[in-house]
Amino acid sequence: MALMVLIALLALGTGLLLWLPKYRLQRALARPFPRHYAEILRKNMPAYSKMPADLQLQLKRLIQQFLHQKKFVGCDGLNITDEIRVTIAGKACLLLLNRPTPAYPNLSFILVYPSAFIVPRSEIETGGLVTHGDQTLLGESWDDDRVILAWDHVRRSNAESDPGQDVVLHEFAHQLDSASGSTNGAPHLTSRARYARWSSVFLQEFALLQEAAQHRSASVIDHYGATSPAEFFAVATEAFFEKSQQLGQEHPALFAALREFYCVDPREWQ
Ligand SMILES: [Zn+2]
Repeated sequence: MALMVLIALLALGTGLLLWLPKYRLQRALARPFPRHYAEILRKNMPAYSKMPADLQLQLKRLIQQFLHQKKFVGCDGLNITDEIRVTIAGKACLLLLNRPTPAYPNLSFILVYPSAFIVPRSEIETGGLVTHGDQTLLGESWDDDRVILAWDHVRRSNAESDPGQDVVLHEFAHQLDSASGSTNGAPHLTSRARYARWSSVFLQEFALLQEAAQHRSASVIDHYGATSPAEFFAVATEAFFEKSQQLGQEHPALFAALREFYCVDPREWQ
């Protein structure tokens, strides 16, 4: 009898543990979206004010989920404020609108530095010689569980002051890319046919950008994307959301592939 009671209690405890995170999330989503959060979005994310009401609603819900599930860590003495949390969450969740996908399930931490940060780097050169050095970064996405960002650059990255570049969109595009199993410029797509279409368009556009970078000719897509297919996907994502009209006109096939993947058309709110 005592054994049966013990088993029942254990089963109940396990059930509660499984149920608790879901219950907590539901409670977080049921809370009203704070008014000052919306003010932060209007100030630091110009696209928000121009979006249709249904997308604004979706975005607010995704932000609440994101803020509930991810932990923000201030680095180098940075105090994490609501402005930092909501601005980063808003831009990260822009990439999830209209898509039945979990909100960055592998990501747990967002580390935020006040400004550009320095990371040690080791490189193996031809012949096996290992060289060590430092690299200054504005953002970095890790495959395991974190994204690192420089806050002053996040704040400056908006359509009005610095069109076409957005470090949050860039790093979270890397997160979507790595969620497919490898960070190679192809995020998770739903069918073989879509992968085939994606690789045909992206390889062609990647080659065009490499050529533009080589000749230093102007491009709506940042030349940095020519360094690898993964960087190409990240900068193409920035251009898709930040320079959508120009990207649509100059690279219609790439724009169509990104619109199919992201399930939104940012031209509607620019
Ligand atoms: Zn990158």
